[in-house]
Order: sequence, then structure tokens, then C-alpha cells
Amino acid sequence: MSVAEPQGAASELAIKQFDLAAAKLDLDPNVARRLRRPDRSMIVSVPTRMDDGRVHVFTGYRVQHNDVLGPFKGGIRYHPEVSLGEVSALAMWMTWKCSLAGLPLGGAKGGVACDPAELSRNELQSLTRRYTAEILNFIGPEVDVPAPDMGTNEQVMAWIMDTYSQHKGHAVPEIVTGKPVAIGGTLGRRDATGRGVVYTVIEAAKHLGLDLIGCTAAVQGFGNVGSVATKELAQLGVKVIAVSDRTGGYLDTTGLPVDKLLEVADKNHSLEGCPYGEKITNAELLEVKCDILVPAALEMQITEENAARLQCRILAEGANGPTTLGADSILREKNVFVIPDILANAGGVIVSYFEWVQDLQNFFWTEDEVNVKLRDMLTKTFHHVLEMSQKHHVDMRLAALMMGIDRVAKAMLWRGLYA
Ligand code: NAD
Repeated sequence: MSVAEPQGAASELAIKQFDLAAAKLDLDPNVARRLRRPDRSMIVSVPTRMDDGRVHVFTGYRVQHNDVLGPFKGGIRYHPEVSLGEVSALAMWMTWKCSLAGLPLGGAKGGVACDPAELSRNELQSLTRRYTAEILNFIGPEVDVPAPDMGTNEQVMAWIMDTYSQHKGHAVPEIVTGKPVAIGGTLGRRDATGRGVVYTVIEAAKHLGLDLIGCTAAVQGFGNVGSVATKELAQLGVKVIAVSDRTGGYLDTTGLPVDKLLEVADKNHSLEGCPYGEKITNAELLEVKCDILVPAALEMQITEENAARLQCRILAEGANGPTTLGADSILREKNVFVIPDILANAGGVIVSYFEWVQDLQNFFWTEDEVNVKLRDMLTKTFHHVLEMSQKHHVDMRLAALMMGIDRVAKAMLWRGLYA
């Protein structure tokens, strides 16, 4: 176990963002020193028997950043580039995100360095069960509640729930969120993050006086977040002109057929071979002229190198950490309205919180109740962040971070820590 300050570009970005907000808040230096580091970091070996009989040892992580407001909460990522630094950054952002949304939850994140697209169902299940067993003593419904992230889905959550439940001797649905409805999942969780991104875009458009009907959008990443955001934007009358995933991008300035794209992605588990639009690269997608750009894939896609070439009016960060600090100042000069990740994609953790509450109470809500409560919470949070940004003359990212960090710091001081 290591609690040293995490390394890597994503981690540096998260810590620099924190330092900026802490300085603006004039944060107690003792509290600030503590919040720059996670509470606990785990690196685990995940031996997995592959279909050819070999045992491959994958590396897994779980980083618990801060639980002063409540149990740790955060997704599990399966991606070849998962590292301790990346997971630590994502865990820190989860702390601010939960706090900003007013949830009684702390921040964590986990992951396994693997390519899920290259694993068979059996291999994926074995890896998931072993990873769960390795972190089992450090998670729990009142301790740390995992959820899906990039490369994981409701099936993976079901295996985690089953492994944990076998160990406890009874069903424990409240150990994970984002699981199938049949085993205690909530209605509305699958679409919650993408839907939430669009709820914040609606408020941003109102603020800027933009009529969404006829606006154009480009979306990077066509997984859980990107595909739902695309579908929801199209339903509002936005013309989606470009989408992409790990296999590349597709552009049609007259508008892509969203229903057909969703069918391709559903059938092929990617956009590979998509017959619509002109083929472009992921880098080109970011520079497409559009009103709304939604990065919904990896971190640090918008950098000092390409930010000046972005041509959008609203940047709605579906992904976590898609924009570097250098890019932020260029976007400010270009007057791009940024809806920062901890606000734009908070719909996922808000509905995860609803799922956890329903599981703890064994009392389930309708999909409408979930969606109405989600929209209400996100809309209020959006306007609180906007007010904060206007009051302190800071951009939306700094305002959101200041609000998230302030609540955590106050809780630490109330609880008598570091006073
Ligand atoms: P996902 O695995 O469902 O989809 C990821 C998508 O990104 C896929 O379409 C994949 O092909 C694409 N992709 C992968 N590498 C890429 C690359 N190099 N360039 C372009 N596209 C690439 O993941 P997701 O759950 O949709 O998560 C996407 C982002 O949203 C991540 O940053 C994640 O942390 C964030 N997020 C997810 C949730 C959630 O509830 N799932 C909640 C909050 C934030």
C-alpha cells in the first residue's frame, strides 16, 4: 500500500486544479496538505486463467481519496492504460463531484489494466471475481461502493455483487451501483450520465441564449456516456454531425442518422465499419465546427496543442479530465463555455446514489421519479456553480472545484480533523 502523492499526467492535472481552487478559497494549509493525497491506495495482482490455460497476472487498483462526507464511491475502469496515477486522479475528482452535488459520499476509483475487448466472457468474469476478492476487505455498502466506468458495465457489476455476496453468505445488492435492475439496480442508471450531460447543456444554452433546435454537436466516445448523450441531444433537435470511438470518427455536416449509429454500436460493440458520414480521426473530431462538443472518452484530449483550434461554443465534459490546465486558459480567451466534468457528468453518481438509497431501503422508485430528481439536482447544481463563477469572477471549472472542495474542507474541520 502506498499513500505517497500519486504520479502521472492525470494526477498532476488533478492536483494542480486542486491547488488553484485551494488558493482561491484560502484553504486551511493543514487541510490542503491532506486533500492533495488519497486516504488509501491499493495495488493488487489479479491472476486470471485465460482460455488457453495460461494464468495471466493483471494489475488492479483501488484508490480511496476521501470519505469525510460518507462512504467512498467511484467507478471501476478496465482499460490498457489504467495506472495508479490515473486512478488517483479519478478518485480525487470523485470526491469533489460527490461533494458538489451535495451527496453524502466520498471519492474513490478503481481499475484493472486490461483490454476488455480482447478478453472472452469467461476471462472477463474470472478477472472481475479475482479483482473483487483482492479488494473485498476494503469495500462494503458503508465503506466503499464501486460502480461502472470505462470498459465496465452492468454485467461486470453483477459479478462483483455476486462475488461479494458469496463471501458474506447472503445477497448484498447495495455493494455496487450500476447493476442490472433484476438484482437491485435502479431504473434510469444506464442512461443517467449521458442524460445528465444533456441536462447541463440545456441550462448552458439557456444561459447563453442559444436555441438548441438547429444547433450542431460532435461527440467523442460512443460508449455509455457518449451514445446516450448523442441520443438525447438528437431528441432535443440538435443536429449531431460527428461521433467517434476507439476505431475513429464519422462526420456528416448535414447530420448523422443517430438511430442507425446506435444500431451499429449495439450490434458491433463499436462504430467499426459504420457506413455513415466521412471517416475522420479522433483528433479531427475535436476540431469540427459545431455548437456543442462532448468529449466522452479519455482524459487529456484537449490540450495546449489543439485548444486554439476548437470551434465549439459549449464544451460539455462527459469524460473525466478531458481538458488540461493550459487548454483551459486558451478556451477562456476563446470564450468557450465549459461545463466541467465534475458537473457535466455528475448524473452518473447522482443516480448511483439513488440506487444505493433504494437498495438500503428495499424500496424502489419509478424511472420518472429517478429522472425528475436527477434533473432537479443537476439543474440546481448548475445554477449554483454559475452563480459562484459570476460572484468570484472565475470560470465554471474553478467555481465547481471551489464548491466541491469547500464542503469537504468544512466537514473535515467540523469533525475536528486538522484543526
Ligand atoms: P465506455 O467504456 O462505455 O465507452 C468508452 C467509449 O470511448 C467507447 O466508445 C470507446 O470506444 C471510446 N474510446 C476509447 N478509447 C478512445 C480513444 N482513444 N479515442 C476515442 N474514443 C475512445 O465508457 P463510459 O462509461 O462511456 O465512460 C466514458 C467517460 O465518461 C470516461 O471518462 C468515464 O470516466 C466518464 N464517466 C462515466 C460515467 C458512467 O456512468 N459510465 C460517469 C461519469 C463519468
